Order: sequence, then C-alpha cells, then structure tokens
Amino acid sequence: MGDPAGGASEKSLAEQIFELERKYLVQNYARLPVVLERGRGCYVYDVSGKRYLDLITGIGVNALGHAHPRILKVIKDQAGKLIHSSNLYYHPFQGPLAKRLAELSGLERCFFCNSGAEAMEAGLKMIRAHGSRLSPEKFEIVSLDNSFHGRTLGAISVTGQPKYRKDFEPLLAGVRFVPPNDIGALEQAVSDRTAGILLEGIQGEGGVRLIDAAFVRQARELADRFNALLLFDEIQCGVGRTGKFFSYQLLDPPPLPDIVTVAKPLACGLPFGAVIANEKAASTLPPGLHGSTFGGGALSCRVALEFLDILHELLPSIPRISGYFRIRLEDLARHYAFVKEIRCYGLMIGIELAIPCKSLVEDALSRGLLINCTQERVIRLLPPYILTEADIDRAIDILDKVFRKGREIFVESGLADELIRH
Ligand SMILES: *Cc1c(COP(=O)(O)O)cnc(C)c1O
Repeated sequence: MGDPAGGASEKSLAEQIFELERKYLVQNYARLPVVLERGRGCYVYDVSGKRYLDLITGIGVNALGHAHPRILKVIKDQAGKLIHSSNLYYHPFQGPLAKRLAELSGLERCFFCNSGAEAMEAGLKMIRAHGSRLSPEKFEIVSLDNSFHGRTLGAISVTGQPKYRKDFEPLLAGVRFVPPNDIGALEQAVSDRTAGILLEGIQGEGGVRLIDAAFVRQARELADRFNALLLFDEIQCGVGRTGKFFSYQLLDPPPLPDIVTVAKPLACGLPFGAVIANEKAASTLPPGLHGSTFGGGALSCRVALEFLDILHELLPSIPRISGYFRIRLEDLARHYAFVKEIRCYGLMIGIELAIPCKSLVEDALSRGLLINCTQERVIRLLPPYILTEADIDRAIDILDKVFRKGREIFVESGLADELIRH
C-alpha cells in the first residue's frame, strides 16, 4: 500500500527484530518474545513501552538495577577519559580494585578478565599448573554433580551436568564428580592425584541449593591434606548476593578457599570477571602463562570500585529485605500445593515446583514480571539489591495470579491426584 520499505512497516518493531535474529543469529538461545529497550531502578521497558519488574536482572548481573545514578556518572566520566589500554601499561584502577577484593575475600592477589567462564579458565589453569609442578600425575579435579561453571571447554569439563557436556567430549581428562553434600564420596574422590577441588557455595543454575557447611569444611580439610587448591565459584552466589560479600562468609568461622572466582554483578552490567587467589595459587601464573587483552580495563575496574562502595552501604539491608521476601513467598506457597520448597539465601531465591515452570515464566512475562526457570522446575529469582518491600508486594501479587494458572496445570497433569494419594 505505497509503502517504500516494502511492507516492513506492517510488522511491529518487535516482529522485525525477531525475524532478523531468526535469520542471522546462531540459534543457540531460546529467548522469550520481548524486546527490551531501557530500564530504570528495578524496572525495564520493552519497545512498546510496557513495564516489567525485573527479578532476574540479566541473570544476577544488574545488582543495582538499571541506570543507577552513581554508576551512570562514573561510566560517563571514565568513558570520556580512558576505556581500555590493555595490560601492556598501568592505569589507576586495577591496583585499588585488586586491593579491595583481596581485603574483602581474605585472599591476596587478583587477575581480571571479562566473564565468569574466563575466570573459571584462569582458576583451572592455576589448579593444573599447581599440580604439574608437584607431579605429572597430579592433574585431577574434583567437582560436584549438578554444578555449573560456564560454557568454555574447560568450564564444561568441570560442570557436573551431562546435558552441557555430551556433544563436546572428550573434555579435560581427570575430572571426578561427586554428589553435593556426600562427604563419603568426596573422601573417596580426593587423593594425591587431586590438584583442585571446586564448589559453588550455593549451586545457582543447579536450582539454588546450599552446600552443607560440613561438606565445605571437609573439602577444605582434604585440600590441605592432599595439597590441592580449593576453588569457590562465587560467580552467582558471591559479591553481596547472599547478604555477605562471599557466600563462604555465611559460615562461622568462614573457611578460606585458595581461589575465588567472581563475575556476574561485579561491574553492574559491563562484562567483567576476576580470580582472587592466595599467594600459593597466584604464584602458579608467572608472566607469560596467562593473560587477557580486554581484562581489567579502566572503565570496568572503575565501575566495579564504585559498585563495591555502594554495596558496602547496601549490604546490611539485604538480610531484612530477604526476610520480608521469604515470609511473603511462604504465605503465598501455603495456597498452592504444587510449591514444594522455597530456598531463600539473601537475594538468591529458588521456588521448587512439582510442575514445569516454563509456562509460568511466560505468563509472568505477559503480566509484567521477569523471572527465570532453572532445572525445569525451579523458579529462580536474582533480584536487584535495591529491591523494596513495595516491589516485593507487587511481585507477590503477580506471582499469585501466575500460580493460579500453575494450579490448573497441576490439576490437569494428574500430579495433584498423585500427591493426594501418597
Ligand atoms: C554464570 C555462571 C558462570 C559462567 O559465567 P559466564 O559469565 O556466563 O561465563 C560460572 N559459574 C557460575 C556459578 C555461574 O552462575
């Protein structure tokens, strides 16, 4: 109808974008049908102007929500001065950031990179280099079933979920998996051949599951006994998420790892990751053995420093807001028999259902709430640290409507009858 763009204007902007991606992107993501355009605080807006309460925050990345004024100010200022200079030279922010992370973690030295998987790669190289110095036989790594450590070949080699690994085998040799919290299995797996032990204090992608204090302590003790490096993957559960800077600090006294990996929220949405290590682990990587062109750029480091300042002020409020969220979720769950368990560790929340949660996530989206599903039946929430009680009330109202739909699915599936019979 006289349209110079050849009919393109008949399609909505969102439809045009879906079509381009279908045609030109590797089809490795199953996206939800929404095109997000901007965000402010705990909310994001799509291209049609519809508003969503964001309780997944780019998978635990936008810890200060969107367009936080202090982060924006620092980004604007630093972008005008120096974004990147490589690791051929010094800039003013890597040193101070490394000092802060060392002090906060109880460890000594940092290496900066651009993502969680890259932090894991650096940690794995430390573990392998540590082992190879002691003996050619010392290359084994003990990791946990149901874990998630990223998507690179090294990271999937230590990820204890066959679905992420099977198409890429053979992977790194010498990785042993043990069931989480099975101390006997851990003792069986660790030996003189073990170079490193890996764990997430709270398994995130694995369904928001806490690792027992006794298991963590035994891992520390075995790592000491067999001279292996203990690595805590704090990429999802660390950097304030649980109300402590690192999840191992929830334990009293906190066990100290040799290596900590962090990423997701560290630079408020800029791609950034870090390995924090003690001297023993750090000394395995002398000049030439590892590096990153982008890692530790001035912009990312300065934003991370600003974030840590803000986090210092926010951290004490996280247990309170988490407690309120937990109470409201538990009240809600009482009305829905298909909610099996609520696991709430600071602002890392899993709601385990007896039914698949995919359609509930889609229903929540249509009602203006961004949530996520992991392990098929666990709704995962990684809300921003700036969340308020009013935001939680709104989320609960929407979840109540979403769960009514869940109840229908539950009844139709016959699972409800089964539950009554047992
Ligand atoms: C997300 C995640 C990773 C991988 O981080 P990427 O930035 O996606 O590479 C590794 N470990 C854990 C625990 C994670 O949650």
